[in-house]
Amino acid sequence: MKIQVLGAAREVGGSCLSVETDSAKIALDYGSKLDETPKKFPKDFDAVIISHAHLDHTGNLLSLCKNNNPTIVGSDITREVTVDLLHDMVKIQQEKGNHEYDDSHAEKVRDCWWNRDSIALPGVRINLQPAGHVAGAKITSLEAENKKIVYTGDFCLHHTEILQGCRLEVLPKKPDLLITESTYGGKIRPPRHELLDQFLELMQTVMARRGNILIPTFAFHRSQEMAKRLDTAIERGILPRYNVYTISNLAHRINGYFNQEKQLFTKEVKMQKYPFNFRHVKHLYRTSQIESPAVVICTSGFGHAGASLRLLTDWASDKDNCVVLTSGYLPPDSPLKQAKEEGRFVTPESQEVISVNAEVRQIELSGHADQIELIKTITKLKPKRTVLVHGDLEQAEQLYEQVKNLTDVCIPTENEIIDL
Ligand SMILES: [Zn+2]
Repeated sequence: MKIQVLGAAREVGGSCLSVETDSAKIALDYGSKLDETPKKFPKDFDAVIISHAHLDHTGNLLSLCKNNNPTIVGSDITREVTVDLLHDMVKIQQEKGNHEYDDSHAEKVRDCWWNRDSIALPGVRINLQPAGHVAGAKITSLEAENKKIVYTGDFCLHHTEILQGCRLEVLPKKPDLLITESTYGGKIRPPRHELLDQFLELMQTVMARRGNILIPTFAFHRSQEMAKRLDTAIERGILPRYNVYTISNLAHRINGYFNQEKQLFTKEVKMQKYPFNFRHVKHLYRTSQIESPAVVICTSGFGHAGASLRLLTDWASDKDNCVVLTSGYLPPDSPLKQAKEEGRFVTPESQEVISVNAEVRQIELSGHADQIELIKTITKLKPKRTVLVHGDLEQAEQLYEQVKNLTDVCIPTENEIIDL
């Protein structure tokens, strides 16, 4: 069996692996990198397994489906959100004058999708298990030629308010190969409850001074999780009544998917009739509808564009305002990274320099495993060999040092082939 790392080698973005046996060829994820022309991956796969609906794991599916009828396998909610995000991607590309893809290619992805938790190909068995991370995310186990492979995709062991973490007990023990993400391979986070306390304390402080609070976030999952968190905190009297808004039509649509698929979530969420219809969080269509002071949850998650760039620009000068970054990872040169590290940022389109007096705080409410969770995963699964992908080299190397005595571990380069 040959495993080739086609993307996300020594970096985050563009995840894709090829697994080739004598009788079948399978892709694990088919992603693209933010703001980059997608790489051309091979297309001759018998099946393409999609771990979850983030574009760095799905963004290349338009090219896969343009002139082919591939078999794509993943969960229902992954399909719905992926197709929405691909339509969005087509729209953005067309606005830039690139007409390589149109909406029919995004719909083709839906037509080629098989919502399955297990499939069999000649000589290969594949099983998908919940990964934590985001709704519908899966860890793939693959058996072929008497070998077992586990591919984590993006995952976490910790539970959040709405989603259970991955349960290691249900994964195959002692796999011949574990392919794991290493996004935060070098990072140890404080316990989740401490981070949540920090977050709510910050909300209370800024609300007490009647400041505006910008929470840039992704439309899928993080937006619903954050809206649910604030809605629940206001309902329970932990936070005062305040204007809380989401501005993202996509996020609003995804609330509907989450209501329909509430069996994916925690017991508490499942018990509610429409858990993602909020009492204290209102959906707006545009920033001009905001009544200040307000908390606004909006895209883009990195402040590159959309409502989050607009509000970052509008609210930057007032020291009573606050920007909360809940992602650990910020791309270099993203306006949010500049705002946090340099107290100023350059607007992507007009190249205007905006100085930031508002408070900028990072509280990492991440859906990725940190170093402790990654070590625990390797300790419990006891893989013979381990491949670290989906992590910048520095992060992967720190994890490597921690696990090199537990497993035969490597950090492959792009296109490297692993013989099993
Ligand atoms: Zn992800």
